[in-house]
Amino acid sequence: MDPYTRQALEHIRYLSQVIGGRGSTTPQVRQAGEYVTAELHKAGVADVKFEPFMGSSSTYLPFTLAFFAAAIGSAMAVLVGNPTCLALGALFNFLGAWAMLAETDFRFHWARLALKKVPTQNVVGVIPPSGEPTRRAVLFAHLDTHRTPIFYSSTAWQNRFGTLVTATFLSMALGFILFGLAALTGWDWLRWVGLILLPIQLFTLWLMATADSTPHNPGANDDASGVGALVALAQRLHGEPLAHTEVVLLFTDCEETGAYGIQAFLHKHAAQYGTDAVYVTLDEVALGVLKWLTNDGLIIKHPTHPKALELAHSVSQALPGIPTIEGPGLAYTDALPATMRGRIALTLCTVPEDASASSGYWHQMGDTIDHISPETLEAVQRFTWELLRQIDA
Ligand SMILES: [Zn+2]
Repeated sequence: MDPYTRQALEHIRYLSQVIGGRGSTTPQVRQAGEYVTAELHKAGVADVKFEPFMGSSSTYLPFTLAFFAAAIGSAMAVLVGNPTCLALGALFNFLGAWAMLAETDFRFHWARLALKKVPTQNVVGVIPPSGEPTRRAVLFAHLDTHRTPIFYSSTAWQNRFGTLVTATFLSMALGFILFGLAALTGWDWLRWVGLILLPIQLFTLWLMATADSTPHNPGANDDASGVGALVALAQRLHGEPLAHTEVVLLFTDCEETGAYGIQAFLHKHAAQYGTDAVYVTLDEVALGVLKWLTNDGLIIKHPTHPKALELAHSVSQALPGIPTIEGPGLAYTDALPATMRGRIALTLCTVPEDASASSGYWHQMGDTIDHISPETLEAVQRFTWELLRQIDA
């Protein structure tokens, strides 16, 4: 095992075992940020700071409100069914669909008004090149860990996750159209379709409403692995600095609750960094086979910038010994807000060799250090180093 992998493993151990679950905006995330700051200083990074922003501790509250609105609307349409209740049923389903779509795409919607924003922070370390700085790479990973709701608890649940998301969204879109049509035309039979929509909406409402009372997972792979790999990278850059590329190492909070940390960072720095900067997030990089995402987003899939894909292909060609795959993302990552701004942004992650048979302990209490693979971590670190070298060349 190379020394940088050994260092990364030590960081993963500290974050996942000594600190443990690191819920978004909690004191544990702050503690993780303080640990990273101290380790970056030890690695010789002079410019390290906390950047405060307003984040959210819950990812499930907006969805709970969205599905609650839809379920109330559908219940009124089915149970009462007069023109007023049909119109309200359509309206409430529209509100639910709007909130769900906007929430998954990081856009404003009515249910976000109920979110209490709280102060938290990112950690940012800047490593200058040895020569004249002419380009910039932003490498990032998230400090916070997710809760452990039942719909992540097994492979079977996770394989149905995408179907469930689609079905719930379609149920609300259909509710809007069918109840609206029934209110306008007086075709009373249309409201009985609500008998199919309502159970879907009530089921996902129950899933969302109970999710926020589950514990935060230790997050060894998701994403102490990314954090550990980047801190170890700082150590390597200290001994082998790049010639012309300034490397910004960013450790975000609130990735798990709506990517608030990376959005705050981009709001502050993206304009100044320009459109040539390369953004790379390392998220879950120590279990299975290396993968980069060709698109990102939960419902609306945003394609990865072609220059980011070009770079990934070129790095992969330079390292034929490292098996890689490319493909669409299942949920969203911290790279998505950068992609949505038209930036050259790439997500590097790892997936279990047989994704249909293994959940990879994603958002489970079993996401512990004994389930991660040092070989995979080492491969990702080599890939990331080669990527930086190519940006610099
Ligand atoms: Zn993650």
